[in-house]
Amino acid sequence: MRWFGWGAEGSSTAELPAGAEPLLRDELGIPARHTPPVALEDVRLPEPVLESGARERLAAIVGEENLLSDRLTRVSRAAGRSYPDLVRLRCGDGSGAPDAVLRPGSATEVAELLGFCSEEGVAVVPFGGGTSVVGGVEPLRGEFPAVITLDLARMHRLTELDRSSQLATFEPGVSGPRAETVLASRGFTLGHFPQSYEFATIGGYVATRSAGQASTGYGRIDELVRGVRLAAPAGELVVKPFPASAAGPQLRELVVGSEGVLGVITEATLAVRALPARRRYEGWSFRSFGDGCEAFRQVEQSGGGPDVARLSDESETRLSMAMASSGSAAERAGKAYLRVRGHEGGCIVIVGFEGEEPDVAHRRTHTRSILRSAGGLALGERPGNAWLRNRYSGPYLRDALLDRGVMVETLETATTWTRLGELYEGVGQALRDSLSARGTPPLVMCHVSHLYRSGASLYFTFIAAQEQGAELDQWRAAKTAASDAIVAHGGTITHHHAVGRDHTPWLRSELGELGVELLRAAKNSLDPRGIMNPGKLLPELSLQS
Ligand SMILES: Cc1cc2nc3c(=O)[nH]c(=O)nc-3n(C[C@H](O)[C@H](O)[C@H](O)COP(=O)(O)OP(=O)(O)OC[C@H]3O[C@@H](n4cnc5c(N)ncnc54)[C@H](O)[C@@H]3O)c2cc1C
Repeated sequence: MRWFGWGAEGSSTAELPAGAEPLLRDELGIPARHTPPVALEDVRLPEPVLESGARERLAAIVGEENLLSDRLTRVSRAAGRSYPDLVRLRCGDGSGAPDAVLRPGSATEVAELLGFCSEEGVAVVPFGGGTSVVGGVEPLRGEFPAVITLDLARMHRLTELDRSSQLATFEPGVSGPRAETVLASRGFTLGHFPQSYEFATIGGYVATRSAGQASTGYGRIDELVRGVRLAAPAGELVVKPFPASAAGPQLRELVVGSEGVLGVITEATLAVRALPARRRYEGWSFRSFGDGCEAFRQVEQSGGGPDVARLSDESETRLSMAMASSGSAAERAGKAYLRVRGHEGGCIVIVGFEGEEPDVAHRRTHTRSILRSAGGLALGERPGNAWLRNRYSGPYLRDALLDRGVMVETLETATTWTRLGELYEGVGQALRDSLSARGTPPLVMCHVSHLYRSGASLYFTFIAAQEQGAELDQWRAAKTAASDAIVAHGGTITHHHAVGRDHTPWLRSELGELGVELLRAAKNSLDPRGIMNPGKLLPELSLQS
């Protein structure tokens, strides 16, 4: 990935669509600026502190060619892809870069590396695709003098496909597209499509309890994991892929979402399905966000709903229409239709169905009938197919917005249907208040991204003028306000981005004191020296010995 943003290394920054500039300038009052990233040569990097003896022993485990400490490799592994990560990188702050990047080729090499690092006191940061948006791959060294990043990209094989049980076993460094390509060639799909799909990996999905865009139907990654192997400094933990078991609490749940603080996931066995014969995506409109939420609740609780279900609030609908505006006759006719039907200024819904033809037809008919009686207006397949085509394009625009001096950040949460409206209002207000108080009034947008029988997730996006010279203070104030509001209004601190470094201050309110102690005990058993990913998930754990 390019070292300061999104897209393949060497690719150029995407252009903002024509509709974006007037919106930023006139409506949001964001002054036109040009704030490009510094050149790679100008990134400030600390000298690597790995002793030559340690370097030699590490190289003996993975091979000299798989121990890298050149500028591009260190800078590319210095951060994930959160807003603060990108701000730091773009202004040339590479102070957090690892001392070296190691690329193990097998679980045996991973185990040997962890053994050595534990003995010598070297911090280890597992690295999949590096798409963490919560500071999860930041190479913090904790109490240790040196930190290495374990890049798992060489472990990229599908090691087993059990067709009869519909289980696929992967090494951790398999990327989203690679997993789907090898599965598709055998007639299967994992059905896991986070927006970071192009770069994220199987190990990263499992380590962060990731949710894909179709997880309402296919299930989140935590529902797809059956078996897993974890290489920990204390040894290997193997969770076997039983379909179900009553043998005590499931240790699988300890490994899934462990964010590299317990060890390295070296293998994951995941439930897969037959490739869908039919995909059908369509758009709907609701007069208000509240009406749309109520319709989604009814759909989900009635069973047999869509695989993809997204409801944008009024602001997000308006922004996406403005960004996509071409002024065409079809677009004008669409707007007139919404106006005539009393849906102008309303909210767009995307629903998608995947599977065998009769199943898709059945669920679609059922869903349509509920959406219609709840006040929905059918918009046909065009908006659904446009969403499907563009579903990975959003992140590419982030670099263009940063080049233009615009802060753009996202956060997510989930709660019960009963508290969803309160959470939506509370978080939105906290973001508006925090950013307005600093003189940078934002546009705050939200969509419902995943449905559950008992509730749903909310995904917020906010954009504002960057506070030049104080970008990170501005971000921290907004993030703190939103996170406090999430806790106050009954939301989880993260529905799918994970805890990483950024959410650790709020974990105690989520798990309770005893819950945190329990995780600490697990960490002490698996990683007694505390070398694994210091400062993440439970920051104080790195101080335990
Ligand atoms: C533009 C964008 C869109 C995103 N969209 C989504 C989305 O739709 N849904 C979603 O859930 N998330 C999303 N994310 C967040 C992120 O992509 C996910 O958390 C993803 O699962 C991380 O995978 P990765 O391979 O990049 O992991 P990394 O970023 O490399 O690592 C994430 C964490 O897992 C640990 N880790 C990685 N591999 C291993 C391993 N093998 N063993 C142990 N620990 C490991 C790391 O140490 C780190 O703590 C998005 C991020 C971006 C930048």
